[in-house]
Amino acid sequence: MSTPHDVTRDTFDELMVPIYAPAPFIPVRGEGSRLWDQDGRDYIDFAGGIAVSGLGHVHPELLEALHEQSRRLWHLGNGYTNEPVLRLARQLVERTFADKVLFCNSGAEANEAALKLARRHAFERSGGQRTEIVSCEQSFHGRTLFTVSVGGQAKYREGFGPLPGGIRHVPFNDPEAASAAIGPHTCAVIVEPVQGEGGVMPARTEYLRHLRALCDRHGALLVFDEVQIGMGRSGALFAYMKYGVTPDILTAAKALGNGFPIGAMLTRNDIATSFQVGTHGTTYGGNPLACAVAGKVLEIMSRPEVLAGVDERHAWFMDGLTRINERHGVFSELRGMGLLLGAQLAPAWAGRSKEFVTLGARHGLVLLIAGPDVVRFAPSLIIPERDVEEGLRRFERVVAELAASGARAVA
Ligand SMILES: *Cc1c(COP(=O)(O)O)cnc(C)c1O
Repeated sequence: MSTPHDVTRDTFDELMVPIYAPAPFIPVRGEGSRLWDQDGRDYIDFAGGIAVSGLGHVHPELLEALHEQSRRLWHLGNGYTNEPVLRLARQLVERTFADKVLFCNSGAEANEAALKLARRHAFERSGGQRTEIVSCEQSFHGRTLFTVSVGGQAKYREGFGPLPGGIRHVPFNDPEAASAAIGPHTCAVIVEPVQGEGGVMPARTEYLRHLRALCDRHGALLVFDEVQIGMGRSGALFAYMKYGVTPDILTAAKALGNGFPIGAMLTRNDIATSFQVGTHGTTYGGNPLACAVAGKVLEIMSRPEVLAGVDERHAWFMDGLTRINERHGVFSELRGMGLLLGAQLAPAWAGRSKEFVTLGARHGLVLLIAGPDVVRFAPSLIIPERDVEEGLRRFERVVAELAASGARAVA
């Protein structure tokens, strides 16, 4: 017998601008990789709040960091700096290629800053001759007008024109197409080292090396969007470290704040100087609460066992998913890096990824999709083995139920 609630899923349809179609249940509490809904049902979380909860829900040390800062200072605006933002900047600079950091509140804003900085940098050096941004098809860089224009998915741009110009899209992982597109007119090339929303597609190392060489040859900036794959998800703090290809600008968000909104743009000194006082800004950027949490996230991720555990968990997932697929055969490929995994639906099941999420909810499992043909997994980097095992048991029930519903005949 469920208790009556003052707000329900129906309240969403009544009051919310309908840009989402959330699950039928409302989670009210989380702990580690478990969630509980309004009626006390439990779920295993294989989605991690879309690759955000890298250290799980309500991590005790993050809770303490937030509490501690919440008793001191919440907000000042950027007319004053604060201790948490400076400590966080120092941590990021010490642990990456970057010399300088800019903070904002989301991935889209981090990319917006990166793209604006690249344009401004080129403007200062070439007086407006070099403006073109090269981006990949199927890429995702956020939902502002600039970032949907740069992103490689036309459906996110439809009906929002006129759009910002000077943007060219090339097929991902295609070195010849990149060679043809990148030249003296190119101001920046932006790429996700592992495409997340686009179907969990890792870049080939040679491809990123090729982009690096083309940017060097033509004087363009290489921007890595690590909003999804960054912050430990690849098994390294940032995926560029794993690939051994260093960008000029890197963007991070999602797991940086583990659920407390924060984004960051990292770059070198010689590029950062193209932004001066007043060129760019945001009210909340560098907010002490967000920075206190992110600082603790980075501290926890610097413990060797955290990143080492990502590869171990990758193996648990791949082994488990492989075995499930041997029994049911609904996936044509299992791929990904670290704890960003994609299960590509075989042709007979194409277009049905959303059904996995719906069935998952019924079986006590929170799943993600990456387009209509890919089931995506982005769990906590410290998910315990028993939760992986239990989650995979539930996942097999989902797969079995879907398999029993019958495959579509494919020619
Ligand atoms: C989620 C995501 C973004 C957008 O981040 P928001 O915080 O939603 O604005 C940008 N790039 C990539 C690769 C992402 O996965």
